[in-house]
Amino acid sequence: MPERTSYDVVIVGGGHNGLVAAGYLARAGRSVLVLERLDRTGGAAVSARAFAGTDARLSRYSYLVSLLPPKIVRDLGLRFAVRKRTVSSYTPAVRAGRPTGLLVGGGRARTRESFARLTGSDREYDAWRDFYATTRRLAERVFPTLTEPLPTRAALRARIGDDATWHALFERPLGELIERTFQDDLVRGVVLTDGLIGTFTTAHDPELRQNRCFLYHVIGGGTGDWDVPLGGMGALTDALAGAARRAGAELVTGCPVTALATDGRSAEVTTGDGRTIAARRVLVNAAPRELARLLGEPEPPAADGSQLKVNMLLTRLPRLRDRHTDPREAFSGTFHIAEGYGQLEAAYQEAAAGRLPAAPPSEIYCHSLTDPAILGADLVRRGYHTLTLFGLHTPARLFAADHDATRDRLLAATLAQLDAHLAEPLADCLALDADGRPCVEARTPLDLDRELRLPGGNIFHRELAFPYAPDEDALTTPAARWGVATAHPAVLLCGAGALRGGGVSGIPGHNAAMAVLEEAAG
Ligand SMILES: Cc1cc2nc3c(=O)[nH]c(=O)nc-3n(C[C@H](O)[C@H](O)[C@H](O)COP(=O)(O)OP(=O)(O)OC[C@H]3O[C@@H](n4cnc5c(N)ncnc54)[C@H](O)[C@@H]3O)c2cc1C
Repeated sequence: MPERTSYDVVIVGGGHNGLVAAGYLARAGRSVLVLERLDRTGGAAVSARAFAGTDARLSRYSYLVSLLPPKIVRDLGLRFAVRKRTVSSYTPAVRAGRPTGLLVGGGRARTRESFARLTGSDREYDAWRDFYATTRRLAERVFPTLTEPLPTRAALRARIGDDATWHALFERPLGELIERTFQDDLVRGVVLTDGLIGTFTTAHDPELRQNRCFLYHVIGGGTGDWDVPLGGMGALTDALAGAARRAGAELVTGCPVTALATDGRSAEVTTGDGRTIAARRVLVNAAPRELARLLGEPEPPAADGSQLKVNMLLTRLPRLRDRHTDPREAFSGTFHIAEGYGQLEAAYQEAAAGRLPAAPPSEIYCHSLTDPAILGADLVRRGYHTLTLFGLHTPARLFAADHDATRDRLLAATLAQLDAHLAEPLADCLALDADGRPCVEARTPLDLDRELRLPGGNIFHRELAFPYAPDEDALTTPAARWGVATAHPAVLLCGAGALRGGGVSGIPGHNAAMAVLEEAAG
């Protein structure tokens, strides 16, 4: 239970962003209390022993890191590291009736050769190389701004300094750029997936949801690389919680906040057991929908999540039908299934019409190939591996009528798409838990809403926003300047729902802490 009845800062939610904010503020000498409703910290950035009697600590929800700035790791003195993957992606395909695939990684020559084998020439590889050189230049310019006060739209555009890229990525639907740049349907699809992860939309959405999602997937770390968290996501959360505690923050788990009140100068939270705790500032790591509930205000419009998350433990990696590719390479990168450009559009249209996609798109990745340390030594010796699957285009509303049966049907249909590219059924490779059940767990958007209070299962808390302020915004307060303001001066967002939030980044936690410290200095 909290030790005091009043703090400088109370943080609602102990997700990784709440812990980042707690760490910075406690190091700056503020009294800080973090209240987390679950019996553990970390929110969607945690590891779990998901299967009874097996020594495997899987990243249960989020699994790869791109957006976490090394500056946060350094500032907070975290003992946490990531490792690069040797392969970026593999996409199986059937061409002229023969199994083949596109391998991106293992050096330029191998990637070029793989493109040529799939498409018959160097054209698509050259287009790919130029395209990602452009996104990399963009990343180098945009990523450092995420931990600075919010730039205006005009300032960010000037910083990028490339009008053609600005126009293509910030003003026109991503589909136009992809169709102009690439000819091959499979290559187009692989590029588009970064615009669809956790976002239910299509290549030509005039609202540009796909562009915003794409941007956050290609700017991380100034490279756009997605790296493996050593020890799993739980290692990051453990490091953050340890750093916050060492700096003097109080972390209380199993303690839901049930109400929040503010008179504009300070604020007060009520906990599930009826206590009230006062604070000069309340930082909300929970989603904006939860904030509205706590304040008794109308909820913001729903922006439901649309993904299926599956965790698996295998006794061995399955063999591929594509004999040119070693499964250890294919599964160590992002393994795309049913993610051709046309397939993605068909799946979107089916789901938008209220049906499960007949060929559900998904991507798969094996953590233990890059970081076996999440498995016990005995499982490593026996050749076991983890498999993480992230499915697209299954919005929360598809599960409303008959949740568990729909989830089971979707899981079967998704794994069937993978099986089509394997030389042996995945089911033959699944490990069994202590009760003899296959080691597979699947979560729908509604599961995530129930477990983590992600609104409609939205992994980013709400729709992602471009990382700038409209030119006409006055940005008169530190909270507005850092993109963490709410309608209430004493209440700030410090989670994924803030501007420039979303993903495992710590950025909104950092930015909320900077706003609080700037207020005090001003
Ligand atoms: C399945 C899945 C896969 C993902 N994969 C990736 C990935 O690979 N890489 C990546 O970068 N991102 C990924 N994401 C997104 C990323 O995990 C989230 O955007 C990020 O974890 C958000 O962090 P947060 O700290 O802002 O919020 P959260 O992690 O949502 O934490 C918020 C915390 O607030 C608590 N809370 C809520 N209401 C209350 C209350 N009333 N009182 C007290 N506590 C409360 C919650 O229990 C939770 O612990 C994924 C997300 C999901 C769900």
